Amino acid sequence: MSCYICKRIEIIKNKKFPFFVKELETGYVVLGDHQYFRGYTLFIYKNHARSLRELNKEEQIKYLSELLIVQEAVYKAFDCEGVDIELLSNSDHLTFHIFPREDSDVPNNAPVWSLHKSILFNKYNMLTKENSKELIEKLKTELDKLIT
Ligand SMILES: [Zn+2]
Repeated sequence: MSCYICKRIEIIKNKKFPFFVKELETGYVVLGDHQYFRGYTLFIYKNHARSLRELNKEEQIKYLSELLIVQEAVYKAFDCEGVDIELLSNSDHLTFHIFPREDSDVPNNAPVWSLHKSILFNKYNMLTKENSKELIEKLKTELDKLIT
């Protein structure tokens, strides 16, 4: 298995991934490793795929409908003015990146990826077991409310 996200899924399945939030029918909700945007969340597709086009129609609709739930939960959990949803076509594994945003934050009117990597992936923004607890709890609470 060469896909690092699939390796991460194995860690999640073994209950050893510290930033795991919740398992949905089509994917796993986890926090992003770097939290420059507080509440940055990933929604990882359960099976190995690189693009939505590899899924059949039914799988696409289910995954995207669960994405809407994750989006709503992030919005409520982190009390933000909006959320950015990013899906990269050139990554190894189908994963949505969900970023809480404020109208006034930087970069303005631009995707988060336009920030320099030294800012976005700064070591001071890294999640730890300690500082992730509150974020995980908040997000899980909102997801549980939306999924009954
Ligand atoms: Zn994979």
